[in-house]
Amino acid sequence: MGAYALEGRTALVTGGSRGIGRAIARRLGRDGATVAVGYARDERAARDVVEGVRADGGRAFALRAELGRHGDAAALWEAFDAEIEAHSPGGGVDIIVNNAGIGRSSDLAGLTEEAFDEVFAVNVRAPFFIVRHGLERLRDGGRIINISSGVARLAMPEIIAYGATKGALDNFTLNLAKQLGPRGITVNSVAPGIVDTDVNAGWLRGNAEAEAYAASLAALGRVGQPEDIADIVAFLASDDARWVTGRTIDATGGAGL
Ligand code: NAP
Repeated sequence: MGAYALEGRTALVTGGSRGIGRAIARRLGRDGATVAVGYARDERAARDVVEGVRADGGRAFALRAELGRHGDAAALWEAFDAEIEAHSPGGGVDIIVNNAGIGRSSDLAGLTEEAFDEVFAVNVRAPFFIVRHGLERLRDGGRIINISSGVARLAMPEIIAYGATKGALDNFTLNLAKQLGPRGITVNSVAPGIVDTDVNAGWLRGNAEAEAYAASLAALGRVGQPEDIADIVAFLASDDARWVTGRTIDATGGAGL
């Protein structure tokens, strides 16, 4: 895939300020897309990503939108509409990457209704309504890419509600793909395994034993890096992936084979 494969396109990446989303935003920016870098709290991190895209010769802007509350998706698009004209006259969007997500969860015995509601609100309800309100802005031939997780397929009862959110997201992918196929819009999930981001920093970084364990879960024998996931997203966003839709693409480096 050459650079500038996405020239003239606009991409929204939720949670684009850190971790996997940051790598996705940087990669789509390098590929020529104008990137809206979504974030909730860490404005500095979002600005760093925007500056990084610009340093690579691309176009990006930061978009603050806290997800997980009623009205969050409508507010996100309102903020997007207010910004996009300055960057891409005429507005609209070609690629929506639903990446923002939270991992806070527990086993069933430790699960509270509040924690269940929170993880579903951010990981499931927000993508549903981002797409619902985004469809009028999403051009025909566009892309929706949902960042799922290997745990939608691999049992991990320690984080049972989180796993359920990703199962729901994959089902959303399936149904959306069927609904949007006639418009030439493809919809896919990408399902990472353990990736070296802030979510895992506490138990993984600097702990050789934990790292060896995490690496041993992947057939390819290492912990995933954000760029491993971003490159797959870039493929799905490109014209080369035009004939793939409704699928969950495994991005675990071969976990649970
Ligand atoms: P991360 O490093 O914690 O980054 C999360 C990003 O999402 C940040 O940009 C953050 O912005 C944003 N975000 C968090 N809560 C938000 C909210 N309520 N509203 C709006 N934005 C919010 O996460 P990550 O590890 O890169 O994970 C990204 C996605 O990959 C998630 O969907 C996750 O479930 C999935 N995933 C991760 C792994 C892994 O091992 N890391 C494995 C499988 C799947 P702020 O900093 O401004 O809050």
